[in-house]
Amino acid sequence: MNTPQKIAVVGAGVAGLVFSLELLRLRESSVRLTVFADAPKNNSAYAQGGLAVSSPDIEAISRHKADTFLAGEFANDVHVVDRVVSGSASALQTLLDYGVVFDENERALNFHQEGGHCEARIVHRADATGSELVRTLGRKLQTYASVRHVSKTLVTSIEKRDCVPTESPVFVVTYIDSNCEMYSEEFDIVYLCTGGVGGVFARTTNAETAVGSGLTLAKNLGATLRDLEFIQFHPTAMVAPKSGRMQLATEALRGAGSILVDEHRRRLRAGDGQYVEMLTRDKLARLVWKHTTLENGGVYLDSSNMPPELLQQQFPQFWKACEAWHKNPSRDPIQVDVAAHYSCGGVAVDSAGNSGIKHLYVGGELMSTGLHGANRLASNSLTEAVVYAKASASDVSRQIRQSTKVLQPAVFIATTKSSNRDLSKIREALHSLRKCMSLNLGVVQSAKQYIKAAEVIQQLAITTENNRMQSKEWFVLQFAVQTAKLILSHSTARSSNIGTFFNSDLA
Ligand SMILES: Cc1cc2nc3c(=O)[nH]c(=O)nc-3n(C[C@H](O)[C@H](O)[C@H](O)COP(=O)(O)OP(=O)(O)OC[C@H]3O[C@@H](n4cnc5c(N)ncnc54)[C@H](O)[C@@H]3O)c2cc1C
Repeated sequence: MNTPQKIAVVGAGVAGLVFSLELLRLRESSVRLTVFADAPKNNSAYAQGGLAVSSPDIEAISRHKADTFLAGEFANDVHVVDRVVSGSASALQTLLDYGVVFDENERALNFHQEGGHCEARIVHRADATGSELVRTLGRKLQTYASVRHVSKTLVTSIEKRDCVPTESPVFVVTYIDSNCEMYSEEFDIVYLCTGGVGGVFARTTNAETAVGSGLTLAKNLGATLRDLEFIQFHPTAMVAPKSGRMQLATEALRGAGSILVDEHRRRLRAGDGQYVEMLTRDKLARLVWKHTTLENGGVYLDSSNMPPELLQQQFPQFWKACEAWHKNPSRDPIQVDVAAHYSCGGVAVDSAGNSGIKHLYVGGELMSTGLHGANRLASNSLTEAVVYAKASASDVSRQIRQSTKVLQPAVFIATTKSSNRDLSKIREALHSLRKCMSLNLGVVQSAKQYIKAAEVIQQLAITTENNRMQSKEWFVLQFAVQTAKLILSHSTARSSNIGTFFNSDLA
């Protein structure tokens, strides 16, 4: 008997949502999708600025490509840059077709400008583009009966079984839910899109659960990881009165006229005397870091030249965050600092998101296509995620054969739950790991810091092993330790400074 192909989508951010919708559009009756998500909030929902889109005009495309190369310090893959930039208009059309709404001005799309861009080319929904994307695409996906949503569930391992060498592999996906119950289940194809790695840093704009679990899952299946040392630090994360995820003051604020000042309200300037607002993120992050860390100063976003109504209307998230802290951004300078923001590297993939492991596709921030080179140009990542999710969906659609294999449905794994339910050690260890990563693998690094980080990470790996327990928190910690190890080993191996990577011993 022929059955539809079973496909696991691990991650429900923009990559997972677009991949699922596109695949259903192409081959609805031939597939059964299971979408896993470990947390209700993800980085896609936090995205503020928007998507960099160039009209299908040769001049506009070549300016966008030039900005992407300049930001990436020409370490980008030329063909990938061409594919993503040329595909950006069609990626936008796909989102519009799914009902995503972007801001308009007199019935034409409104574009704004961000650092590193020579012109306004970012489509957005005020400063809450990500939540519009996730809400609209997520709602659309809920309308399909053939999709199973497995939420608040962490995928803990993926194993590949090659039944007969000539046949396609079977993936055994193991997962744990919020009741600490574990299951395993077989799938024909896996689309892995677990997002970035900011969650292994204490100072980050990322969701807490963005700990790079997909890196370990893919690596254990034999996939190649690259460029993990290129972590982009955002230069203007808002310094909150409480600890936790740092909210962004989007770059579009600077594009719209906000300026950066020091603690004496003097405008910040680069070494060559130029104003800094439109610098690429790597350069601005190092300037902000130098002023706040080496010179013990403070950096503030000054939006006093912008009318309050305009701020409220165009940057409602920013306005609300300031209000919650009893600040009026049209009057008060808002303190900002650097924070781990985006992983430019990841799992190496080809033009269709193939990881090199048959039927294992990778998407979104987890993949490394070569687009970003040594530093991502702002707002290129959502565009890349959509362009590649579409390509993966059409590749998968071509691969789909009516299967005669009988796959194992979800099976409860009767592992013994440990009696030790004390999570305090796990939380403490994660906290120490995050602190260590922000201290030692931040904007500026050194060999001495690598040694310190290696000691702490090694110690935490032992603590993790000694406190093994059947809980989501434990698996998150284990993934975070693995990701920290990977970032450290890639950073240690780099012998020259470029883009987001800066080792002061190599300067
Ligand atoms: C504050 C902020 C603002 C940003 N603004 C912009 C912007 O304006 N423009 C732009 O281009 N980019 C922006 N970015 C970057 C961009 O948002 C991300 O690169 C992109 O959203 C990543 O999408 P994704 O689908 O790969 O991952 P995510 O959206 O992070 O989703 C990952 C999914 O995987 C799930 N998951 C993770 N591990 C597991 C596991 N083991 N098992 C099960 N599920 C798992 C998570 O629950 C989540 O559903 C921003 C990022 C941040 C943090």
